Amino acid sequence: EACLYIVSTPIGNLGDITARAVEVLGSVDVIAAEDTRHTARLLNHLGIRKPLLACHEHNERDRSAQIVAKMAAGESVALVSDAGTPLISDPGYFLVATVREAGYRVVPVPGACALIAALSVSGLPSDRFFFEGFLPAKSVARRKRLQALSGFEHTWIFYESTHRIEEALSDMSEVLGAERDIVIARELTKTFETVLAGQVQECLLQLRADANQKKGEFVVLVRGAESSKEDGVDESSANLMHILLGEL
Ligand code: SAM
Repeated sequence: EACLYIVSTPIGNLGDITARAVEVLGSVDVIAAEDTRHTARLLNHLGIRKPLLACHEHNERDRSAQIVAKMAAGESVALVSDAGTPLISDPGYFLVATVREAGYRVVPVPGACALIAALSVSGLPSDRFFFEGFLPAKSVARRKRLQALSGFEHTWIFYESTHRIEEALSDMSEVLGAERDIVIARELTKTFETVLAGQVQECLLQLRADANQKKGEFVVLVRGAESSKEDGVDESSANLMHILLGEL
């Protein structure tokens, strides 16, 4: 029976590909990839040759129809992104929804994911957390979003790129306060892996003091706000309210 495998790939260290991912990528009929050149390099490293199909945010709708047609013809398909787990700040949502709706099985082949790797070493509470994806690129929208998250009482996490890490931290310092505890996980599993922990102001100083700290890929984790125990409103309703207020 044809199925769609959602295959996680490494976020840096190639050793993090799983044995099952190698087996599945070697056994499917076609591999749908966010960037075929990028994936070709990984497959080359693994000694796997397969037809590749570009599947990214600009063509996901057309591709989904084509992939369902292939599956109807009995072909199995794997979806990979450039790094980590597909669909997590990466393409694939529309494809998965379409394939499920068409009645085919979608099978996870789990592995690396930057936010989970970061959370697991952060030292911040990990029992409950919220993943924000990428914050808005423009400062006004970003501050509004930070404001909406500022009262959230559990750990929250976002992705950031080298271009905006400093701006994001300085907005955080203004909106959340310079003393909020954060953890910055940079270049996880790679040569220059660094995990910085401290108050926003301390982390900002360290980044400014050493330009190398601004390079690479980042996961930023924020300690939740201290519970305010708003009268008459229970904790989870208060959290939800903060998020909803941010949408207004
Ligand atoms: N699908 C990926 C995953 O499972 O984590 C995320 C893809 S998203 C387009 C890329 C962002 O993930 C980067 O800008 C960075 O914020 C984060 N990221 C990916 N690899 C990372 C790494 N090795 N160290 C730190 N952050 C990373």
